Amino acid sequence: MTTAEPPLEAEEESAVETARRQLERAATHLDVDEGIVERLRHPRDVYRVTIPLERDDGSREMFTGYRAHHDSVRGPYKGGLRYHPGVSEDECVGLSMWMTWKCAVMDLPFGGAKGGVVVDPKDLSDEETERLTRRFAEELRPVIGPMKDIPAPDMGTGPQTMAWFMDAYSMQEGETEPGVVTGKPPVIGGSYGREKAPGRSVGIVTREAINYYDWDPAETTVAVQGFGSVGANAARYLDDIGATIVAVSDVEGAIYDPDGLDTTDVEDHDETPGMVSGYDAPRSLTNDELLELDVDVLIPAAVGNVLTGENAREVEADLIVEGANGPTTSTADRIFEERGIPVLPDILANAGGVTVSYFEWLQDINRRAWPLERVHEELETEMLQAWDAVREEYDARDVTWRDATYIVALSRIAAAHEARGLWP
Ligand code: NAD
Repeated sequence: MTTAEPPLEAEEESAVETARRQLERAATHLDVDEGIVERLRHPRDVYRVTIPLERDDGSREMFTGYRAHHDSVRGPYKGGLRYHPGVSEDECVGLSMWMTWKCAVMDLPFGGAKGGVVVDPKDLSDEETERLTRRFAEELRPVIGPMKDIPAPDMGTGPQTMAWFMDAYSMQEGETEPGVVTGKPPVIGGSYGREKAPGRSVGIVTREAINYYDWDPAETTVAVQGFGSVGANAARYLDDIGATIVAVSDVEGAIYDPDGLDTTDVEDHDETPGMVSGYDAPRSLTNDELLELDVDVLIPAAVGNVLTGENAREVEADLIVEGANGPTTSTADRIFEERGIPVLPDILANAGGVTVSYFEWLQDINRRAWPLERVHEELETEMLQAWDAVREEYDARDVTWRDATYIVALSRIAAAHEARGLWP
């Protein structure tokens, strides 16, 4: 057994282990210099900073922040900043590697980064969050910038966090630098369509997969776990193209209507928390039951590690499209492979977010906003190009969709390393 194949009952992997395993699996299909693969197993740098915060009561508290830079051979580092008590150096490194693959599969001129602060944002007032964010921006200022590393929102952060971050950076640089972060409010250089983009790309990839398998969208049933930003936008997109969304859920439970739910009538998690499971539908289900429904397409779009060795044999969907990051454990992945259930991976399906972040960066550099229609058109083009590249690898080799996606990413990264060479 190679390191690329964990035993079936292996303990679940960390993000770094998953990223390394996917790298090694892809490398077995390509003629890539072992030195390049070895380089990609490691981050280029990880910055650890201490952020002093004055609390509202006048006391001082220290918080730890990280920024991991994985690889920048294709362009500046790009990736989110999360505020969460579980943030760790290892998690940032693993997720920075995922961002390298995600940007490469989308052919964006970026490399991978990830960072965050070990904090529960619910414990901070708005004023404290602002002070923490401004000081974090200042601590990271030497290693970020529009041409170096461009953070974005992630768990526990949002457009307002990015606005404070951008303002702090700009004040210190002496000029307004909207391109230092993406995911800002449009009034200060954010892009229209950014927030809905990950869900929209999940919809586009699902639509292409439905066409690939020669299904009729009007005959296709879909269950979506997690009716939040990603899930609700994916469900509504697929509803619009004629698919029947039979089940959606929030953290409290799922609703089910075999004739199809009206996805515009169900309010999403952001609109009113708890409204999904409280909606008047023919049947209520648990989240576990939703995952095991006999549907054509299952879209896990809530949290990671929901499809596991425990439930993968009970899944009855014919196709899985990953809306969330990492919803399928490696054990479940192998079971789906054995059972012939295709899984379209997160780094392709939800990559609309980083793609519209790229559009935002272009708009900021050019100081010219794009109308929403242009964002939608360009996102469609980028998603189709990525889909075509992955489909070609999938058709040409005896591999899973996930492997095909990583093969596309690694071949682009390796070619860039080959072309640039090693310094000195
Ligand atoms: P969100 O908070 O808007 O929505 C999450 C939804 O999942 C909510 O309906 C919530 O009630 C539900 N949920 C939470 N925990 C659950 C659980 N244990 N079981 C079932 N349902 C649960 O979040 P989001 O932005 O839509 O993100 C969802 C996933 O997509 C995450 O994995 C995130 O990392 C990933 N993602 C988000 C973006 C983005 O820009 N929003 C981009 C790429 C990937």
